Amino acid sequence: MLTELHEVAANRVPEDAIRIDLKKIFAHRNIDVVMDEVKNVDFEGKKVVAEKATYEYDYLVLGTGSKPTFYGVEGAAEHTFKLWSYDDAVILKEQILKMFRLAAVEKDPQIRARMLTFVVVGCGFTGVEMIGELGEYKDELCRDFNIPKEDVKLYVADALPSLLPQYPVKLIEKAEKRLHKLGVEILTSTSITGVSADSVCLNEDSCIETNTVIWAAGVEGSDLMDTIDIDKKARNRVETNDKLQAINHEDVYVVGDNAFFIPEGHERPVPQMVENAEHSAATVAHNILAELNGKALKSYTPTFHGSMCCIGGKYGVAEVGTPSRMFAMSGFFAMFIKHFINVIYFIQVAGFNKVWTYAMHEIFHIRERRSFLGGHFAKSSPNFWLLPLRLFLGYKWLEQGIHKLPGVIADPSNIFLIPAKVSATSAASAWEGGADAAASTAADVTASASQAVEGAAQAAGEAVSQWGQALPVPEFISNIVNWSMDLMFYTPDGSFTVMAEIFQAAMVVGEVIVGLCLIAGLFTALSSIASIAMGLMIWASGMAPVEMLWYLAGGFATIGGSGSVFGMDYYVLPVLKKILEKTQVR
Ligand SMILES: Cc1cc2nc3c(=O)[nH]c(=O)nc-3n(C[C@H](O)[C@H](O)[C@H](O)COP(=O)(O)OP(=O)(O)OC[C@H]3O[C@@H](n4cnc5c(N)ncnc54)[C@H](O)[C@@H]3O)c2cc1C
Repeated sequence: MLTELHEVAANRVPEDAIRIDLKKIFAHRNIDVVMDEVKNVDFEGKKVVAEKATYEYDYLVLGTGSKPTFYGVEGAAEHTFKLWSYDDAVILKEQILKMFRLAAVEKDPQIRARMLTFVVVGCGFTGVEMIGELGEYKDELCRDFNIPKEDVKLYVADALPSLLPQYPVKLIEKAEKRLHKLGVEILTSTSITGVSADSVCLNEDSCIETNTVIWAAGVEGSDLMDTIDIDKKARNRVETNDKLQAINHEDVYVVGDNAFFIPEGHERPVPQMVENAEHSAATVAHNILAELNGKALKSYTPTFHGSMCCIGGKYGVAEVGTPSRMFAMSGFFAMFIKHFINVIYFIQVAGFNKVWTYAMHEIFHIRERRSFLGGHFAKSSPNFWLLPLRLFLGYKWLEQGIHKLPGVIADPSNIFLIPAKVSATSAASAWEGGADAAASTAADVTASASQAVEGAAQAAGEAVSQWGQALPVPEFISNIVNWSMDLMFYTPDGSFTVMAEIFQAAMVVGEVIVGLCLIAGLFTALSSIASIAMGLMIWASGMAPVEMLWYLAGGFATIGGSGSVFGMDYYVLPVLKKILEKTQVR
């Protein structure tokens, strides 16, 4: 997940948070994932020459991405840290930590200052995201290593006169303000002229002493683009036609960063960004299938819906919309959009499992409050403390279910959980009292629906005195519920339908099952969600006593892992996970 490399480099999320296993993505699909490094392509012989083997092809799709470009700056390739792969991010993270660790015990002030100076080259998205993240991370490191914040120097430099030049001035100013707040010095209109192991030189006349220069100044085609013999344009991208076929090679398609294609009416090639990579992939897949089926190929028409740049975990700037109308946003909304888009991407590519772990890494397990939601969702305590609550909640549902079950079995047509059509409001709290009514009238299997209604209303009266008033329900919800109940549960003459009988039986059986599952700690998350859902249903129908509030609150509390403490989830969930991993369910 290249777009999140800076988060690993500055230790916001753990290393595994940005890895997506290709083999898992394609598990049980008709795709053979081969881990091998391609060294060259024999376009005439239709062969891909790789390190471990040579592969023949009918159609070839080139999608090898980019690598950093150094514009011939002396020492840049050798002495800078890159941010273009998982390994780069991990190496950079280790370097940052090492510099603080060494500086904490360094006596020589000059060496110490060099260790605590970090320079990012490039004020585009990658550079700004990296330095923003570092600005946030330094506070934690300073505290851990007992280093005053003022001793840490952070720079971001670029030859262009502005950072994030593709954004409107308003957003650029906001980004600058945020970076200043994080202690970053912005050096625009500053050319980098040379890099050595312990310095970076700017504009020929001055150098900054540092052990850590991070290169985020631009990209060119991957190493493979250097070796393959095919028509290339600016910075090693393969020139394509509008169908994304390489010029002079109709059986070779190009996707993502590798493609050099200027859409009609545009002056510049398609930008090297995720959205274009995804769109171009869809076009290429379509065109290969079309070729196989003898149908017409389609042209690639890229669309652009904006970009986001986060400056640390809590703040970001973004411009989103359509090519004709873009909306600028910052702060909470920009970060929300960024996470939302990542989630959509994960759903498409890696499945819900990845969405879950992403939410865990970014929000629920976030350290040091480095999330746009702060640390509010990340505080944790041992699940052990939830055990009594889970058992009690389970007991209460089981008690409710068992209390009502004999009535349902004796006479399923005796409806006591659904208010009578005539006076829905007077049936308030029949959920509790209705059970008694049902039990007492269960023997009378010939009781008509209208008698049951009276029983419910009567029971409601008892319940009100026992539990107090039913919880109020907003009128618009009552209207929706009444409308749907009219549709499903009442006949035109006001008696109950068969659906009402089925619903009531399902509710009672549901109470028993939820109760048992919570007590056993089996599928606790699902049971807790069911507890909340049943509580909300009872409330929406106007029959919830005040006591229902704690069924809801208890349900929320037990969702997250309470079944793994003296519960069957402890044994069942790992087995289930293994089984799911082997199937297509992701
Ligand atoms: C730090 C960073 C932040 C970014 N942030 C954003 C952002 O916020 N928004 C945005 O839109 N874009 C962003 N980008 C750009 C975006 O990641 C790329 O445009 C996108 O990943 C391109 O997709 P791709 O499939 O063409 O190439 P890649 O995603 O780079 O995939 C290429 C794959 O090919 C493999 N490969 C390369 N050479 C070989 C070989 N010889 N043999 C076998 N395999 C090979 C690579 O290992 C890699 O897995 C960012 C990039 C970086 C580095």
